[in-house]
Amino acid sequence: MFTVATMVGLGGFSFWYLDRALASSRRRTMEAREDRLVEFVNAWPNSGSPVPLVRKLQQLTLAIASTDIIQIYDLNGRIVYSSPGPSDLKVPWPNQDCTERCYGLVRQNAHRIRTINHVITLDGQRYRLSLSGKIDEHFDVLNAIRNSYFLVCPLMLLLSVGGGFIVSGRALEPISRINVEAQKIGIQELQRRIPVPETGDELQTLTVTWNQLLERLEIAVERLTQFTSDISHDLSTTITVMMTTAGLALSRDRSPEEYRIALQNINVECEATAELLDTLLAIARADLVHQKIEWKAINLTDLVIEVSQQFQPRAIVKGQTITLQVEDEIWTNGDLSLLRRMTSILLDNAIKYTPESGIVTVSLARRQNSLELRVSDTGIGIPEHAIPRIFDRFYRVEESRTENEESNGLGLAIAKWVVEAHRSTIDVVSKPGQGSTFTVSIPQVAQTEHTDAAYAPLS
Ligand code: ADP
Repeated sequence: MFTVATMVGLGGFSFWYLDRALASSRRRTMEAREDRLVEFVNAWPNSGSPVPLVRKLQQLTLAIASTDIIQIYDLNGRIVYSSPGPSDLKVPWPNQDCTERCYGLVRQNAHRIRTINHVITLDGQRYRLSLSGKIDEHFDVLNAIRNSYFLVCPLMLLLSVGGGFIVSGRALEPISRINVEAQKIGIQELQRRIPVPETGDELQTLTVTWNQLLERLEIAVERLTQFTSDISHDLSTTITVMMTTAGLALSRDRSPEEYRIALQNINVECEATAELLDTLLAIARADLVHQKIEWKAINLTDLVIEVSQQFQPRAIVKGQTITLQVEDEIWTNGDLSLLRRMTSILLDNAIKYTPESGIVTVSLARRQNSLELRVSDTGIGIPEHAIPRIFDRFYRVEESRTENEESNGLGLAIAKWVVEAHRSTIDVVSKPGQGSTFTVSIPQVAQTEHTDAAYAPLS
């Protein structure tokens, strides 16, 4: 609709403008012709006998060979001179005195004639000049243009509509392709990717972004599947052990001592399962995006000392030494139970993966813009290939598995979540056979005034 209106408007304007331009050019030519006539007659040399006006006008007509008709009347309307030419171009004097130029456009015998009528002075006398010229060519040109416009316009319209369809079809084609491909992607086909159109525009960027999103989803779903199967495996193993122990104990009459041992074994498995469920709950809690952290001012110095003391008996049993290098009165803002849990996990691992008579060092210090909690040990260390994965859920380094130690590969995953929830970072440096150092950096901004301390050391 807009295109049609534009075409009609543009066509109308061009037609009107051309008409005006042609008319004004014709008018200027006729005015120039009149000026030349007056000048020609009045500038005639006066030497010798005077030349009659009619002769001068005849000379002029011969000299300029124009198709315009010149007619000169005296002021009483009697014809004085009329240039040769078809009689149907000779237009009568209008009903006006025309002391100023009178312009006219008349139709006569299927001709269109433009006229100038003017009272002029020739050889000192006043005459009426009537100039008339055919302008049929002018209208022929306009008609030809109008006709061609009527022919070309619908054609152009058809072309632009057709072209528009083709162009928009081509432009939308990649979108339809993306649509079709996207519909094929379900939870089972997350490895599929949308073909990236080489359009170099937003569409290409959008497709790349979608593919990145799919990649992240694929990894997340893979982890979740792995997580579920690991839990199922762990739980079913424990339940099988409990059922077998109970079944064996009940298969025949046993002494109270035998029943006690069986129940003890079942109790150990129950405790392990309870611990696993506890950890899973913590993970589920960590997964809640809107998990609410109970921010409080915490005396980190006291917390670290307290947790280290709790691990002291285990270290003694293993013949290990826990060394404390803790600066006084270090406070931070955070969730008390989460920070305690994170510190316990690091200490638990340090003791677990350090052989007898090893040393575990716990340090807490102020750095330029942060607080630094470090747990290092002289233990078995972590192979280089495993370092990027130790913070993944259920990841355990094969070589470090021990018969007697509890291990489910969830500790560091929880520790990392706690650290990130406190807008902090955790790093590890480790060498197999030499030991590992875990460093938690808490930004200075997390520190606060310690007026409403939430931490109360366990007695
Ligand atoms: P878990 O200790 O229950 O297996 P974690 O997530 O706490 O699970 O640790 C993942 C793995 O990282 C452990 O299985 C162990 O191989 C390795 N690891 C963690 N801490 C240490 C450490 N201090 N020394 C050596 N290896 C460690």
